[in-house]
Amino acid sequence: MSDHVLIVEDEETYRDSLRFIFEREGFDVTLAATGREGIDAFERDGADIVLLDLMLPEVSGTDVFRAIRTRSDVPVVMVTARDDQIDKIIGLELGADDYVTKPFSGRELVARVRNVLRRREGSPDDRRDEPTRLTVAGFTLDPERLTITRDGVTQSVPPKEFALFHVLASHAGRVLTRQAIIDRVWGADYFGDTKTLDVHIKRLRGRIEEQPSLPRYVRTVRGVGYTFEP
Ligand code: CA
Repeated sequence: MSDHVLIVEDEETYRDSLRFIFEREGFDVTLAATGREGIDAFERDGADIVLLDLMLPEVSGTDVFRAIRTRSDVPVVMVTARDDQIDKIIGLELGADDYVTKPFSGRELVARVRNVLRRREGSPDDRRDEPTRLTVAGFTLDPERLTITRDGVTQSVPPKEFALFHVLASHAGRVLTRQAIIDRVWGADYFGDTKTLDVHIKRLRGRIEEQPSLPRYVRTVRGVGYTFEP
């Protein structure tokens, strides 16, 4: 599967050239022209990596970064025109995964992005497999406490049910096949009773849906699997 890069850049010429560079390299590209659009696009579709211009009008790159970080651990590469910001950006305060300074070469940028992705995949504490704290559609999922919080109400959730919700919510808007869900939630622990998934879906709906029989969030895709509709 192609890596999905979200590019947040207000200058059209940069945006266009970034799209060109990454599409040519086989990435799926989503473009956002403002910080707000960037946050919305991330909430809607997620991304494997975010390329974030620091100097954005209205909602700044720093604010976009923080908004994304409260939702996800996705790698973020900052793009900046100002050298003197670099220390601050890569410093602990923000914790971006890398940065590039404008003007940049397409080759260098792609190499850096691939490096960041590789680092994430190859690191021994592969955080992509560990559920991360996530906020989507008003639900906040805390994997350390196994809690779901919405409208100020926090409920504790059994581990498999939590994992199921996390898998669905972290792929919001995308359809996951039954097998893909089973692999991610149960892995080798799954002993082939196909009802197990349905039972957990039912319990999860009972927990988060206003009308579990007419689910608003956890939708069935007939003959395929399930999707979380943000
Ligand atoms: Ca800019």
